[in-house]
Amino acid sequence: MNFAIFSDIHGNLEALEAVLADIALERVQEMICLGDIVGYGPNPAECIEMIRCLGAAVVMGNHDEACIEPGREFELNEYARAGIAFARRELSDAQKAWLRNRPMRLDFGDFTAVHASLSDDNEWEYIFTPADARKHFLFQDKPLCFCGHTHRPAVWSQEGRKVRGLAPNGNMICELGARTLVNVGSVGQPRNMRPEACYAIYNRMAHSIAFRFIPYDLKETQWKIFAAGLPPFLAQRLAVGR
Ligand code: ZN
Repeated sequence: MNFAIFSDIHGNLEALEAVLADIALERVQEMICLGDIVGYGPNPAECIEMIRCLGAAVVMGNHDEACIEPGREFELNEYARAGIAFARRELSDAQKAWLRNRPMRLDFGDFTAVHASLSDDNEWEYIFTPADARKHFLFQDKPLCFCGHTHRPAVWSQEGRKVRGLAPNGNMICELGARTLVNVGSVGQPRNMRPEACYAIYNRMAHSIAFRFIPYDLKETQWKIFAAGLPPFLAQRLAVGR
């Protein structure tokens, strides 16, 4: 059984379409979206519709929550706040109601899907370092967990007290250890110094994960960001992936 797992679309329709076209060429039985469909980008409503039509399993992201919970946007920076204000204007009431009904985590037998982390110390905790991952592992009750949120693809493995991190920077297949946390990167706003959309395919039989880096028409997305009156920085960062 193969799962295509993607996260942090952030209203980038061109990146989402490119990823879905790539998934269509792979043998994938189930799709999972780890949240942050909206925010930053110019097509939040279209991205929600596309993901709803796929029948993908979807968990809640912090930008999705900020979009539907008045006041939560004040916890975000000015660029994120501009994206939330834009998404609130673009989304229909039905789309907001659908977002509101997304769960915080989903379990799939041998793995859990979550947007940020399973740690309940802080909401929406970022996992950047082995120490961050170690804290998360205290709460991971299955062999495997998938997350997004940092927009940086990574594989964190725990062996005893040791936690090791690996940062994939090209299409590659990694074998998974006994206890692993996989960050699938970001479809619509990568921050791993590469401009391509990123997602991952989990092969349950082989117990391996394939990272996929997919080029897309980012000039079109940049043009739409300018046209929507969103901060120009949100367009510039797409070209460099940071
Ligand atoms: Zn995000």
